[in-house]
Amino acid sequence: MIDSDAYRFETLAIRTGQERSQFGEHSEALYLTSSFVFSSAAEAAALFAGEREGFIYSRFTNPTVSLFQERLAALEGAEACIATASGMAAILATTLALLKSGDHIVAARGIFGASQTLFATILTKFGVTTTFVSGCEPADFREALQSNTRLVFIETPSNPLTEVHDIAALADITHAAGALLVVDNCFCTPALQRPIEFGADLVIHSATKHLDGQGRVLGGAVCGGKAVIEEIFKFMRTAGPTLSPFNAWVILKGLETLKLRMQAHAANALELARRLEAHPAIERVFYPGLPSHPQHALAMRQQSAGGAIVSFEVKGGREAAWRVVDHCRLLSITANLGDVKTTITHPASTTHGRITPEARAAAGISEGLLRVAVGLEAIDDIERDLLRGLNAR
Ligand SMILES: *Cc1c(COP(=O)(O)O)cnc(C)c1O
Repeated sequence: MIDSDAYRFETLAIRTGQERSQFGEHSEALYLTSSFVFSSAAEAAALFAGEREGFIYSRFTNPTVSLFQERLAALEGAEACIATASGMAAILATTLALLKSGDHIVAARGIFGASQTLFATILTKFGVTTTFVSGCEPADFREALQSNTRLVFIETPSNPLTEVHDIAALADITHAAGALLVVDNCFCTPALQRPIEFGADLVIHSATKHLDGQGRVLGGAVCGGKAVIEEIFKFMRTAGPTLSPFNAWVILKGLETLKLRMQAHAANALELARRLEAHPAIERVFYPGLPSHPQHALAMRQQSAGGAIVSFEVKGGREAAWRVVDHCRLLSITANLGDVKTTITHPASTTHGRITPEARAAAGISEGLLRVAVGLEAIDDIERDLLRGLNAR
């Protein structure tokens, strides 16, 4: 076992937590088993009573899943981590484990669509209400706090406009109100941004995205302090939205190359953002790594690079934007992100298609806006695919 204080990120991503079996396997072992056997009735009783540590049943814990949890916790600089079946399962488990009827959430309006729906339509059935805050002004978040606010929930950079939240400022405001700051770190991953260092209490992941990074499995995780993760674990072991050992094993393989991939994603994205910014058919490019981004300085304080998401507004509205999408031969037309394969989506008619045109305009999602989740193909090939539609008349 390696000590997480003594090693750097790249090493922790590859080495943390591995304990070899009697076979001495070099790669991490995959324990595909639903339950574990006990050597005696007394051992079974001790394990169930919590007097002894060990594995009982894979809804509670599993060695491959535990290894993934330990490794991700080390990468986020967290005391503990609990893995979940998907990113949404992580958000559901966090809210149901920590909140009760009468509690209140303050959430950024720009969070992932399913998270918005969970807060606005499902949690309300259990008496948990949410105030959504537009934009990134910490003062607006402070104003939304109530005496019953328990969680403040953000994603930074936001999707699709890459607005950047000031994690340290929000942590101060949140803690002054006795609440917890939750950061969905799916876009940056700990390879580019470690929210706990800036005061966040919980970090949420859709491991489906960059942590796996190759579009193979669903997974999720919550990282944070020991006591709060223990609360979420109690919910998980009873309610059961657990990560499968197979998916944990696949994502462990993803973690090994996370830093390399994220640096390459960000380098490709920055280069694409620069080239698009210079193109006459484009009105505006949104990318935190560009000096023209209004929060570039804040982004560069929190993130070691801009991330993989580049959004841009094409001149000529929906017609021109759709022309770019429809001329793509290489880029995948899909709303997914966090893959080595570059994807393109027109938010106004897909991810943000069901909100009213007025709400869309208020959120800054124009008809000409396109979002590219930049993958690891050659940058010239990605650019050429986009130029075909941009240059078409
Ligand atoms: C995809 C995504 C989620 C949900 O994750 P699933 O694994 O699809 O359940 C949550 N937050 C963000 C920012 C996402 O991109």
